[in-house]
Amino acid sequence: MSEREQAIAAIVAAIRTRQRFVLSSHARPDGDAIGSQMALALALESLGKDVALVNRDPVPGPLTAFPGTERIRVAEAVDEAYDAAIIMECSSLDRTGVAGFDRSFVINVDHHQGNTNYGALNWFDASAAACAEMVYDLIVALDVTLTPAIATHIYVGILTDTGSFHYSTISARTFDICRALVEAGVDPPRVARAVFDSNTLGRLRLFGAVLSAIELELDGRLAMMRVDEAMTAKACGTYDDTEGLINLPLTVKEIQASVFFKELNASSYRVSLRSKGSIDVASVAKRFGGGGHRNAAGCTVPGDYATARAAVLEAIAPVLASGLVEAETSPPA
Ligand code: 5GP
Ligand code: MN
Repeated sequence: MSEREQAIAAIVAAIRTRQRFVLSSHARPDGDAIGSQMALALALESLGKDVALVNRDPVPGPLTAFPGTERIRVAEAVDEAYDAAIIMECSSLDRTGVAGFDRSFVINVDHHQGNTNYGALNWFDASAAACAEMVYDLIVALDVTLTPAIATHIYVGILTDTGSFHYSTISARTFDICRALVEAGVDPPRVARAVFDSNTLGRLRLFGAVLSAIELELDGRLAMMRVDEAMTAKACGTYDDTEGLINLPLTVKEIQASVFFKELNASSYRVSLRSKGSIDVASVAKRFGGGGHRNAAGCTVPGDYATARAAVLEAIAPVLASGLVEAETSPPA
């Protein structure tokens, strides 16, 4: 058996011999976090297991359209021990933001670079385009029938974590899995509308304000944007409304990377980074104690805006320089 088959077999055996599960994913969950968690929850329930779902932060608005997400409880800690805690999408147990999972037998299923192997069982696959791809494999290995609901949750994970099929982590397997999901009843345009077409006027106005103030650096190859409370209030939007905004600069051909600063308070910024091709922004995020994937990463940077901006610019400049050749010489076939 390959290492991957062994990891899957060990998790399947651990699931079969246990009854009470708690499932979690990372703080400020995204589509892959929620999709992976919900798909596995429904699969375990179809095997007659008891499943609790606990996250640090609420399900993002558009994802509440998907059935079952209302069952996810928001808490800072779990008090009981479960037969197992299955943690998805988290490179370390801290990323859940929920205390107390270490009382249970921890199963770690993740695709983020730098996973710390914090589980009693660990399955880590950085080549998966989404954790939901791994959950698909687990569900197949558990012999659970893919219902339209399970398939839809997995599809949401893949659709969102690939940036709508933009990122370089996509493989032929991604499409094999999506084919099976569509055959199981996923309606791709309906899912895409529910996930992406949920704008409010406040969101559009806030996008307008942030995009109008976009700044270019490094010969126009880097876009830098910021948002603060004042801009948000003026647009009658919320910080959550900026979800997805960071990807827009990358729709400009010359722009190779995009950085978005979200003011947390007077002395720290939440920073999101996105890039094209071989430009590795995870390495930049890691320098500030964050992490993520080559083309999508994040971190928290101390300082006022000028300080945080200068620090990130200094860190990303060499990365952008080294990624330049490949990014510019390999247009899509
Ligand atoms: P976002 O910009 O959407 O907040 O984050 C993009 C990706 O970067 C996430 O999917 C996550 O994998 C990773 N990420 C974001 N913030 C952090 C962080 O503070 N620590 C780590 N380890 N990864 C992060
Ligand atoms: Mn993911």
